[in-house]
Amino acid sequence: LPQTSAEKRTYSHSRLSCFEKCPKAFHYRYVLEIPPDTEGIEAFMGKRVHAVLERLFRHVEKGHLPSLDAVLKRFHNDWDEAFRPDFIRIARNGTPVTFYRENGEKCLRHYYRRHAPFNQSQTLGLEEKISFGLDPDGQYFIQGFIDRLAQAPDGTVEIHDYKTGARPASQREVDNDRQLSLYEIGVREQFGVKGEIRLVWHFVQKDVVLTSSRTLSQLEKVRDDTLALIERIESEKVYPAKLGPLCNWCEYLERCPAKGGSDS
Ligand code: SF4
Repeated sequence: LPQTSAEKRTYSHSRLSCFEKCPKAFHYRYVLEIPPDTEGIEAFMGKRVHAVLERLFRHVEKGHLPSLDAVLKRFHNDWDEAFRPDFIRIARNGTPVTFYRENGEKCLRHYYRRHAPFNQSQTLGLEEKISFGLDPDGQYFIQGFIDRLAQAPDGTVEIHDYKTGARPASQREVDNDRQLSLYEIGVREQFGVKGEIRLVWHFVQKDVVLTSSRTLSQLEKVRDDTLALIERIESEKVYPAKLGPLCNWCEYLERCPAKGGSDS
């Protein structure tokens, strides 16, 4: 459990959404701290794409523009180095590894073709860590990593997030998204940003870009809702299994008793 002391507990968006999806999986991961038994291939692909985009922008910051071919070569090298057939799980039976590898390549092609030479905004941070106290007593902290923090030519600060899943979110979904709302609160607190902040989602597999913004009162509501969720998590005793279609992607599927797994 990532915490700085018994009183101060640090939450991330993924930790919160893990509880919302299934308290039982949350229990395995964050209470018992059992390392995942597997990693879904979609998550594996997403990590490779994120790492390559981060590296791409680090080159661009140094004044060097890698070719698309070089970017793709790096992706395939990373894939080969990191791929562990015994650990990576393909939930969709019968789908070959090459399908996901090609999807990763597609993500990078889309992003590169849409944004090269990557000078639409100035990069302020890559994998930028944000961390801030959520409540007035400083009991709970939110931590996260922003894929890319940038500033547009008009001075607007932008929080960019890459999504590699097959289905882009709707405008309504991004308008209500908690993850980037929390990042915005963090950026405002950490860097003292007072003006407008643009939230930008890159659904790279389908080459869709969506943007949204928040009012200060919307951010306050996110803060309150998140605190209420954390209080629910902290008072949870049973951690019930929540069966659903997402079980097929669960990292603890093999051991989950609700799915006939090995845990008694
Ligand atoms: S297999 Fe399903 S019910 Fe079991 S822990 Fe995972 S998500 Fe929860």
